[in-house]
Amino acid sequence: MSEKMPEKKKVRLVEDLQCGTCGALTRREEQVPKFCSSCGAGYERYCIRCRKKVGMYFEEWWPEDDECVRTYAPARRCPHCNAGLDVEERQGSPDVRYDH
Ligand SMILES: [Zn+2]
Ligand SMILES: [Zn+2]
Repeated sequence: MSEKMPEKKKVRLVEDLQCGTCGALTRREEQVPKFCSSCGAGYERYCIRCRKKVGMYFEEWWPEDDECVRTYAPARRCPHCNAGLDVEERQGSPDVRYDH
């Protein structure tokens, strides 16, 4: 991490994993779950075209000065060959909904 913050505060980092299939959020604890607890879909994906493993990306936001929330989600495109990775048909809206 870079030293962006002038004051040294203790930052609380919260990490959530978002299922790419059903959108459920799972709090990431010490052990990273491999599968969604709601629908059982895997968080890891493999590109069907080039067969490389595609990692998750995360988005970061700061609800408070000292609280950082990272939401990890499976990539929608292969970073190697740019093939789309959606396995299920999408239900129209790409909106991300949070349940809390
Ligand atoms: Zn799921
Ligand atoms: Zn690929």
